[in-house]
Amino acid sequence: MSISNEPDSDAATPQQPPSAADTQPRDLLTSCVHCGLCLEVCPTWKLSGDENNSPRGRLRLWREEAEQQIPEDPWTARYTEDCVGCLACESACPANVPYGQILELQRAAQVSSGRSRIPSFLRLAAALAARPRLFSSLATPLRLWRQLGFGGSRHLFPGRPHVLLSTADYATQLMNQFRPNGPVAALQTGCLMESVFREINFATVRVLIENNFRVVVPAAQECCGAVHEHLGLAAASTDCRIAAFTRLNPDLIVTNSSGCGLSLAHAAPQSLPVRDVIALLGEVSLTRRTPDLPDARVYIDLPCHLVHGQHVSRIPESVLNATGLPWEYAPRASDCCGSGGVYHLRKPENASRILQEKADFLNHAEGSPTILATSNHVCMMQWFSASRTGLVQRPYTVRHLIQLLDPGPDFGR
Ligand code: SF4
Ligand code: SF4
Repeated sequence: MSISNEPDSDAATPQQPPSAADTQPRDLLTSCVHCGLCLEVCPTWKLSGDENNSPRGRLRLWREEAEQQIPEDPWTARYTEDCVGCLACESACPANVPYGQILELQRAAQVSSGRSRIPSFLRLAAALAARPRLFSSLATPLRLWRQLGFGGSRHLFPGRPHVLLSTADYATQLMNQFRPNGPVAALQTGCLMESVFREINFATVRVLIENNFRVVVPAAQECCGAVHEHLGLAAASTDCRIAAFTRLNPDLIVTNSSGCGLSLAHAAPQSLPVRDVIALLGEVSLTRRTPDLPDARVYIDLPCHLVHGQHVSRIPESVLNATGLPWEYAPRASDCCGSGGVYHLRKPENASRILQEKADFLNHAEGSPTILATSNHVCMMQWFSASRTGLVQRPYTVRHLIQLLDPGPDFGR
């Protein structure tokens, strides 16, 4: 099995985003030709109908500020804060405006100048994300809470994470037992994922090892920087973010969260591919699962940072068929669900209105159970919230796609 970092014609193969060096010579803020083709894909423009809340409008505001035609002011910063950062406008743009890169620079400038204020609970979240081991330790009661099957939170979807065993130690146990001999895949475990939703990391380890990947999990991996980028805060240096992985000399880095994967791809050298696990599994011959759920139906939703960030526009059919369940794409599967990293926490009303448009189909969807499957834990949180906020009034289950391919916790016993 060879792992390539080269873009090819398969839409499931991610392409590297442009590096800062590629775009530095361009005058980023004048690259927009005002065609307006991005408006129809922008969730905040569709919600508000306000040009300033569209990609074209934001780019114009930022340019007029830079040219000192309008003052830098909190009212313009509000439009920057309202942007979900879904990057749908990048995919729609014929002029290849690097909107995500511009947004990141604008957010950082507005936060550092004090025009944009970050709520203290999000500053705390970013501080914890930068200290994954402390975060994981502090979140032990949350894992226990979920392990015992308690609910009660708007975003805390059900799951049974191991409370004490880390993904790194679990992977070592399974590696010693199975001794696969395929490519060395370094798994990014993530801060929130490892601290709270660890059962998804465990499932990822099992699926990779079952498919002959040699899984290594750096125990001391640093924050990927995604939360900081979303908030406009300074993240750790790219060297720091990637060092724990390069030390293990893997063939590739595997991620199971598209937002984290995108941030890590920005930090990784060209020689070290960063691959989303679901897209990667399209390149192997997967074991087909045989779940005893004859009436189930799976609806696939696609995270924005997978589609527009990593340019994986569809899930390989071989992967979806290997779930052994009837599946179809959810209506408007490539549209934003409103999660946007921390957007659903910072702008919950907007996020809920964006989700409402997408989630309504679950009120009359088929399947018993009805399963909404995606590949990003923050999108899972957002989809789960639809039941808690009354947007969806009939039962449905939210799952990570890797969990539908999982041989289960008895694997190897
Ligand atoms: S990133 Fe998403 S929300 Fe922001 S301007 Fe682009 S399409 Fe609109
Ligand atoms: S599609 Fe691109 S060029 Fe056209 S208005 Fe939007 S950002 Fe500007």
